[in-house]
Amino acid sequence: MSRITVDEARTLWNEASDEELQALARGVRGTFHQPDHATYMVMRIINYTNVCVAQCDYCAFYVLPNQEGGYVLSRRQVFEKIDNLLDVGGDLVAFNGGFNPKLPLEFYCELFAAVRERYGDRIEFYALTIAEFVYLADRAHLSFADAAARLRDAGVHWITGGGSEILTEDFRKRHAKFKYTVREYFEAQRAIVEAGLKTTATMVIGFDETLDERLEHLQRTRDFQDACLRDGLDGLFSFLCWTYKPYGTEFAGVEISPQEYWRHIALSRIFLDNIKHVRTSVLTQNEEAFRALDYGADDFDLPIEDEVTQKAGATIELDLAGLLSVPRKLGYEVTYRRAERPTALTSI
Ligand code: SF4
Repeated sequence: MSRITVDEARTLWNEASDEELQALARGVRGTFHQPDHATYMVMRIINYTNVCVAQCDYCAFYVLPNQEGGYVLSRRQVFEKIDNLLDVGGDLVAFNGGFNPKLPLEFYCELFAAVRERYGDRIEFYALTIAEFVYLADRAHLSFADAAARLRDAGVHWITGGGSEILTEDFRKRHAKFKYTVREYFEAQRAIVEAGLKTTATMVIGFDETLDERLEHLQRTRDFQDACLRDGLDGLFSFLCWTYKPYGTEFAGVEISPQEYWRHIALSRIFLDNIKHVRTSVLTQNEEAFRALDYGADDFDLPIEDEVTQKAGATIELDLAGLLSVPRKLGYEVTYRRAERPTALTSI
């Protein structure tokens, strides 16, 4: 199947049946993966601080500096959470917090170096999202390249694409005007890739974004990956889409249906023909997430904690064996996947 255009994607979304989308998505999935096989990780998101100045209107997690309820986790609390993750069989930590003006880049470098020293390769961690990375580089008056090098030298392997939501300038003006621009997002991600670190693409749907905005996000993501691959860089390891949870947020709203989510996963799988993994979100879709494997997804996390989405209404199921029985009943062989080290660092 040849690459589809944005116009063709729009037509597919508006006119294709679920079965047609599934068939096309399975075709692209099959170029990367066995049809009846999926992979997963057990992970925990450690929300190290809830203090944030970005004030996104879709966020139920943050408090402003000096407001009641703000926190920063201690080193001991972080280690306890990682120890607990290891106890339940997981090995991936994602650090995600707010734009806390009291925490400089050095705070993070010291934290990540301490985590790497204590755990070595027993765990892997996603150090920051691109959103936090941009904020920290800006606060430190460093170029993205220099900030990425500082983090890499502290033992960081991954800075993931979180905080992207919908990558159009207009969406950001409507909902996250203090965050950063789309241009900055991709400049930062390019610097991260060029520094030899691994990264991912993400997307969140279900706000008030239009179909054209969703397609613009996918187009920008595909273009970024094309440029990376053309220049001999690793590029984006995966694309993860999750759904907006509206409870307790200023923007509010209602959740989209699982069917809309599955169709979007299929459209993403078809469109992003240059990204190996398309990941489905158990965090926001619970057991419904596994049906997305029939729509082109091939990989998922089983998270045991994420305060950001839990504050906005996400519920986390801790019966991991019970969860894994669902994709197995759908006919998939599911196997555990360990996070990869960056190619540029494998000999270090
Ligand atoms: S989504 Fe992230 S950046 Fe936006 S207000 Fe919440 S914590 Fe801050």
